[in-house]
Amino acid sequence: MRKKIVAGNWKMNKNYTEGLSLFSEVINMAKDELHGEQQVIVCAPYIHLHSLSALAKGYVQVSVGAQNAHQEEAGAYTGEISTSMLKSVGVEYVILGHSERRQYFAEDNALLAKKTDIALKNDLKPIFCIGETLTERESGEHFNVIKSQLSEGTFHLSADDFAKLVIAYEPVWAIGTGVTASSDQAQEIHAYIRKEIALKYGQAVADETSILYGGSCNPKNASELFAQADIDGGLIGGASLKSRDFIDIAKAFN
Ligand code: 13P
Repeated sequence: MRKKIVAGNWKMNKNYTEGLSLFSEVINMAKDELHGEQQVIVCAPYIHLHSLSALAKGYVQVSVGAQNAHQEEAGAYTGEISTSMLKSVGVEYVILGHSERRQYFAEDNALLAKKTDIALKNDLKPIFCIGETLTERESGEHFNVIKSQLSEGTFHLSADDFAKLVIAYEPVWAIGTGVTASSDQAQEIHAYIRKEIALKYGQAVADETSILYGGSCNPKNASELFAQADIDGGLIGGASLKSRDFIDIAKAFN
C-alpha cells in the first residue's frame, strides 16, 4: 500500500519564533487527532529545520523537509545549502522542482536531475514537483509538459532509487490562485503520471509511488481530491500556515 501523505510548504513565510509555534501546534494536533496511517511532512525555511527536527524526534507520523537544496556536495557556492547539511540536522525530505524554483530561479529539468541524484545520495527523499502553466494547458500541451518534466528530471534513476521519490502534481494555474483543479482534472493527470511510471519502471513501482496534488488545496476540497484513485495526498501552500486547516486537510483521507 502506498503512503498517504500531506506535506506543507511554508514557502518564504514565518520568522523563527512564529515557525516554532506553528510547528508545535501541528505536532500537538497531529498527536491528538491523527489516528490513521497518513504521513505529515512540514517543509519549512532552512532556519527552522534543526529545531523542527528536534521537536518531531520520536514521533514518526510527522517529518521535516526542506524546500530546496544545492546540486553539489560542498564548495564555493556562497549562500547555498547542501543536501548533506540538511541530512545532518535531521531533515528527511526535500522539495525539488517546485514551479516557483523553475520560474524565478531558472531551474530546468537537467539541473533538477542533478539535485535529485545528490539528495538520494545523501539519503533525503525528494518530493519532486511537476505541473503545467495555464498557457500550456490551454494549448493542449499539458500531457507533454508533465511527461518531459517527469522523464528528464527522474527517469535516469534506477527503479530502486525512483521508488524513494514522492511525486507532486502542481498545476501552476492553481497555485495560490484559489482556483483548484477539479478532482476529475487532477485524477486524469495523476493517472497519466502513474501510467508513465509503470511504462518506465513497471506496475509494481508505479503502484507504490505516492503522487500528491498541490494547488489551492484546503479543508473544504481535500476530501474529494483525496478520494480519487490516483491522488495519494496533497502538497499544501497557504493552508499549511494555519495549523487547524493543515491538520483538517491531513484528516481528509477516507
Ligand atoms: P497553495 O496551496 O497556496 O496554492 O500552494 C500550493 C503549493 O505551491 C505547494 O507547494
